Amino acid sequence: MSEDLNNEKKEENEEINTNESKETEVKQEEKKKAKFTFNCTRCNKCCAERGPVPLTFWDLEMWARNGVLINFMPYLELYKNPAGNLDLILKPIPIPKDDADQKATSLDPFASTPIEELLDEKCPLYNLEKKECLIYENRPLSCRTYPLEFDGKNYSIVDVDCPGVGQEGMTKEELEKMRETAKLMFTELTRIRINIPVLHQIIQKDVMMELIKQNKEAMESMSEEDKKKINEVFGKSRDVSEK
Ligand code: SF4
Ligand code: SF4
Repeated sequence: MSEDLNNEKKEENEEINTNESKETEVKQEEKKKAKFTFNCTRCNKCCAERGPVPLTFWDLEMWARNGVLINFMPYLELYKNPAGNLDLILKPIPIPKDDADQKATSLDPFASTPIEELLDEKCPLYNLEKKECLIYENRPLSCRTYPLEFDGKNYSIVDVDCPGVGQEGMTKEELEKMRETAKLMFTELTRIRINIPVLHQIIQKDVMMELIKQNKEAMESMSEEDKKKINEVFGKSRDVSEK
């Protein structure tokens, strides 16, 4: 094939790709602007690729009321999202790619992988084999309103690829309830975002004070002989560092 023909073909392909991505953009824009109709198809895409699920006091209070709060502790994490907000989240878990990965994940599902690398990974409470939420009755507020969001002024769809968007079938009352839930989510998210940094500081200070107290108590309960030994050890390490 001549170089001219090759270039022509390349340009043709580039044109097709550009047209396709423009078409997708237009479709997404149309979906965003269209009157909100929604009916969840239970495809579970949102649970399998959700990334961090933001939590609110509403969720913590519900879990406490239902006596299950302790079960969620291992999954909680603080995460500074790209908009700069500090959120309490359910930390996503990567889907294992092979057996070795599976073994490593089962040994330590919350390995030190930074959350930034898990933004499209599955919710830790999603059962991949059964394709179901392990805590459906206790699912967080943000799962109840997904993919609808309210920002204090407007509603928006956070995931235009959600297959449920644009589907008919929900009653007017159900849609209204979803809008109300999205509003509640906004209020609750604002409430926890205001309080988390303060709680974080208090907890850190509290932990520090507790450690100091523990140290003091441990030292007090030691025999004079042990105290002497400890002082000798510290004395030696100080001598070494001063050399
Ligand atoms: S909310 Fe959307 S992505 Fe999630 S299960 Fe329903 S249809 Fe699928
Ligand atoms: S808590 Fe349940 S509904 Fe929410 S993302 Fe996780 S698996 Fe899905």
